[in-house]
Amino acid sequence: MRFIGDYHTHSQYSHGKGDLRENVEEGILKGLQEIGIADHGPRSFSIIPLGVKKAETLLEIKKEVDRLQGEYPGIKILCGVEANIINGEGELDVPHEVLKELDFVAAGLHLLILPPDLKTARYLIWDNRISYKCFPSRQEEIRSWNTRAVVNAVKRYNIDFITHPGYGVDIDTCELGQVCAGEGTLLEINTRHSRLEGFIRAASQTEVKFIVNSDAHSPREVGELDRGLKLIKEVGISPERVINLV
Ligand SMILES: [Zn+2]
Ligand SMILES: [Zn+2]
Repeated sequence: MRFIGDYHTHSQYSHGKGDLRENVEEGILKGLQEIGIADHGPRSFSIIPLGVKKAETLLEIKKEVDRLQGEYPGIKILCGVEANIINGEGELDVPHEVLKELDFVAAGLHLLILPPDLKTARYLIWDNRISYKCFPSRQEEIRSWNTRAVVNAVKRYNIDFITHPGYGVDIDTCELGQVCAGEGTLLEINTRHSRLEGFIRAASQTEVKFIVNSDAHSPREVGELDRGLKLIKEVGISPERVINLV
């Protein structure tokens, strides 16, 4: 069994280390048939911006991807985004007009974002970072808020896959998996972040399908998907449920 594509790789347009060409060339070296560029949406932020400068920058990336495609006919290059879910209503930090121009849309919850309002600062960032650890009695409520935010995003947009469910935030992936299965959205098995097995195991009880991605932040990490294969076997997910595994 092998993976035909890696659809979650970052470039210097967000906080990846390599440029698009380096990611593509590494993908070819690793024997991939397809590679996806999924830079962070514009609200990714720590002490410096981590995402694309503005949503429209994704359209520039798309143009560059199309140019590179001409140079590298041996691999299919797709341009997407890893958008941020920025509130409980499931809104993304990339508008529909931009999303519809891209080859695919990935979305996830991240705590390193510039919150658009105080409500998001409180529920997403403060509660997940501080309250979850300090006030165990609130954990269920926080988990429920996280789940609702992602479920709402899945219902509101055409999202191809949800990135690293459970990374940095507690979430009910059994409920999320059911909704994703109904909407045709995949859940990602992310080989960069560890300790997400429990979330994948819970989701595997539903009908949802999976995609395995590296979340590469430097070119050499592109196509590093072996951990995903190990996890699929451990959890007992049948290979037919993983769309980039042949
Ligand atoms: Zn992410
Ligand atoms: Zn990522």
